[in-house]
Amino acid sequence: MVSILLKKGKEKAVLHQHPWIFSGALQNINGNPENGDLVAVHASDNRFLAYGYYNKESRVAVRLLSWDEPTLPDEDWYRKRIQVAVNSRAHLLTNGNDTCRLVFSESDYLPGLIVDKYGDYLSVQISTSGIEKMKAVILDELQKLTGAKGIFDKSDATSRAHDGLAEANGLLAGSLPPDFVEVQENGIKYHINIIDGQKSGFYCDQRFNRKMLATYVKDKNVLDCFSYSGGFTLNALVNGAQKVTAVDSSALAIETLKQNISLNNFTADQYEAIQSDVNKQLRVFKENEETFDVVILDPPKYAPSRSALDRAARAYKDLNRLGMQVLKHGGLLATFSCSGAVDIETFKQIIAWAALDAGKEVQVIYQFTQPEDHPIRISFPEGEYLKGLLCRVY
Ligand code: SAH
Repeated sequence: MVSILLKKGKEKAVLHQHPWIFSGALQNINGNPENGDLVAVHASDNRFLAYGYYNKESRVAVRLLSWDEPTLPDEDWYRKRIQVAVNSRAHLLTNGNDTCRLVFSESDYLPGLIVDKYGDYLSVQISTSGIEKMKAVILDELQKLTGAKGIFDKSDATSRAHDGLAEANGLLAGSLPPDFVEVQENGIKYHINIIDGQKSGFYCDQRFNRKMLATYVKDKNVLDCFSYSGGFTLNALVNGAQKVTAVDSSALAIETLKQNISLNNFTADQYEAIQSDVNKQLRVFKENEETFDVVILDPPKYAPSRSALDRAARAYKDLNRLGMQVLKHGGLLATFSCSGAVDIETFKQIIAWAALDAGKEVQVIYQFTQPEDHPIRISFPEGEYLKGLLCRVY
């Protein structure tokens, strides 16, 4: 196996079990590894540190897998890691739930691999050459463990490009999912378009937050901004909301939301679905003096990286100001950010600025986070991305 020597002092993060080694930390590569090849990483004094896989295209030159010298990350190691990840989610797949994330990349010790289960189908994202090399073993183990009817590749082209990988999409194993796969979450039925839907097809990271927020909506007039296929809308309707208005700019999202409403036997008079830009629509509501008891803001990732933080902060502030302005006095704002670069303290600060601009007082009554199938590995804080605040606004 190729051995990589780190520059003096660069072993610290590795010793803290952080799974990334940046290319600038490498002193010497003893050999000529291909992208995705297993390498042994040593400190400048030659001490063994960890095994990982190498990539010369990526800023992250080595992604670490095992810190234990006798434990080589071979086929069997990959199978065991997948078994641990899948088995630890078993209790989430009961009582009206057949949908969750089975493998969450670094947070499940498998950098570059994301697997989401949607009923009988799996949606997989592969973003590193190391995982790409082990694909056959990974798919075989997933198939064995889940008995999936089909495994579909929904890899994100941008993250693959960082690792020098070509775009990939399509059927990996079994049969092609139908246009709409029927799944259940919190006892609610959804149609998921795995092939053409956004991200892996559904935002299962909001499962718990949808359920928690729904305990506040009985007899309330709810506005669900960035509704996608209706996760928050449906949880609100099931829990007795008087009316829900859903807004999303995507035609496919709105069409799927309407399907999901009928699938759960709600009727047209209980909701309104508006295909529009949220910022524009909130201004329309404000002009028409239309107000709501509960406003949900679950926008896409505004800060894809730290360098985009300032612009993103302004966008979050403007959005939240508008959201607060269409709330009734004492109403609830459930506001989210899925930007990893925006931590909870920064997010609170942004909400404070929004409140000042809107001339409102805000009490935070609950903090939302990501659910346990999106674990946060303590040695890899980068895995924490979803946060939210439930605010009472006066
Ligand atoms: N709340 C959803 C997930 C939201 S994902 C759920 O629970 O499933 C973000 C959504 O925002 C996507 O559906 C996307 O189509 C929509 N979107 C992105 N930019 C938008 C904009 N400017 N106005 C309205 N919708 C937008």
